[in-house]
Amino acid sequence: MNLLFGTAGIPLSTENRNTINGIKQARKLGLDAMELEFVQSVNISMDRAPEVRKAAKENSVTLTCHAPYYINLNSLDSAKLEAGRLRLLNAARIANLCGGWSVAFHPAFYHKMPADKVYENVEKQLSAVMKILKDEGNEIWIRPEVMGRVSQFGTLEEIIKLSQNIENVLPCVDFGHLHARDGKYNTYEEFCSALALLEKELGRYALDNMHIHIEGIEYNDKGERFHKELDDSDMNYRDLAKAWKNFKIGGVVISESPNIEKDAMMLKGIQEDSI
Ligand SMILES: [Zn+2]
Repeated sequence: MNLLFGTAGIPLSTENRNTINGIKQARKLGLDAMELEFVQSVNISMDRAPEVRKAAKENSVTLTCHAPYYINLNSLDSAKLEAGRLRLLNAARIANLCGGWSVAFHPAFYHKMPADKVYENVEKQLSAVMKILKDEGNEIWIRPEVMGRVSQFGTLEEIIKLSQNIENVLPCVDFGHLHARDGKYNTYEEFCSALALLEKELGRYALDNMHIHIEGIEYNDKGERFHKELDDSDMNYRDLAKAWKNFKIGGVVISESPNIEKDAMMLKGIQEDSI
């Protein structure tokens, strides 16, 4: 798979905003991917999904999906735990009907519990979700995301371990989050070290099938504060793009900057210039 660039949601410049017009606009902008933003709710019905699938196919736009924010696979409240699992399942079902390739989600909060115990809880819950999807014949990639706040479960190492231990799970690497977590991961060497770790632990396959989020980011000692445009941030995106190129990665890069298409198009341009 080549490296495809796209927007987190319907491009801002889309007239008559809906998912299908968003897919067409992504194509007009020269982008090859779009993420279905189910972050507030899964906003495409089963009935509508085949039309979305058709539009994506006709326009050669690869669809990824961001599952609802309200998922916490380490919730101490069993009703919330169950509701989170169902949100993830529902996002995966609709994304699959839309012909989607991959589903990113925010796995959990630590709630001040030991990290290894939280890992156990998340693995158990995610394994249960994956078993249901497998039984349904749904093979869409499920991607726990590298998270940007220190209170959030989701270091690069934790996400790699889930990917090793559960079938059909691979990381969503948010390079803005990775940087915001402790201020590191912003030099060429550090970006290369992250990609080398992915290759060592998960194999070349993981690098050929990356699901990446990228944005400029404001952060403090607790990690992520908010997203901003790449050029307004300290994110060293040129060296990041250089690392992507040198590792010959493939997959989908989704821009989560406030101006989603501007940064997606800029990164695509950098990638093409450097080839
Ligand atoms: Zn996210």
